[in-house]
Amino acid sequence: MSDTVGTDDEVESVSAETADAARKLAADAERVVVKAGTNTLTDDESNLDVEKVAKLVDDVNDLLERDREVLLVSSGAVGAGKGRVDYPNDTVEESQALSTVGQSQLMAEYSDSFDRYDRTVAQILLTENDLEDTERFTNFTNTVETLLEWDVVPIINENDAVATEEIRIGDNDMLSSSVAIGVGADLLVTLTDVGGVYTANPKEDDAAERIEVVGNNYAEVQQLVDRSSSATFGGIQTKVHGAREVSEHEIPAIIAKSTEPDVLEQIVTGKPVGTLFVPTNGETDE
Ligand code: GLU
Repeated sequence: MSDTVGTDDEVESVSAETADAARKLAADAERVVVKAGTNTLTDDESNLDVEKVAKLVDDVNDLLERDREVLLVSSGAVGAGKGRVDYPNDTVEESQALSTVGQSQLMAEYSDSFDRYDRTVAQILLTENDLEDTERFTNFTNTVETLLEWDVVPIINENDAVATEEIRIGDNDMLSSSVAIGVGADLLVTLTDVGGVYTANPKEDDAAERIEVVGNNYAEVQQLVDRSSSATFGGIQTKVHGAREVSEHEIPAIIAKSTEPDVLEQIVTGKPVGTLFVPTNGETDE
């Protein structure tokens, strides 16, 4: 392994020692929150992609086989709904209604797919209120603990049907980060269609290079990301933000490519996958 990890003059490298220690923490994680984005689960026509779901379930099962606890934060409800209903206007109200169509499709698919491993899943739908209200939050964590004790896989999404502007968490990048912190996870893995954080938008720029580790170089990485991507809903910016928030709670976070073979197994066997956010106390000097 090279002595430093960093890819671009503009981004300072994180020391190999810091990176290795964080990678080991990630590999040893007992409780893992895995966030899967819509692209990870649906095809170009917004239909639920059975093979993509199966690939994700295979990856999650790899962790379960290794006696890790997994909470899955899954998007894809609105996307899956779009594949089933003609929606003329693309309004907020329609997205909310689409989510209710898609959420049941999504859970049916997860249920079937996890059945291949004789595993049971549970659906939890949350809004911001549920995370901020102490009693609701305690109920949520108690439910999660019970499900994990039963070896049931909790699958969490925002309750889009009732989430108005005031009570929206916003996107599942932030939801997964709040869940990871709230349930005391040891690792957050955000699976996406790009392989991590890049020095430029990899979909538009062939010279874009992956940043392997984010730590004391966070401010520079943040600037790069702000420059290279538009502030689209659920884009790389919110993933970086969510990962940073988690890492400031001493939890390592990794943004990785969902199509990478055995992506979760690679992470828990200490392989350098995607972009790793090292746990930090929030200060810029480590
Ligand atoms: N809750 C939305 C859905 O299931 C996704 C939100 C997001 O992707 O961040 O479609």
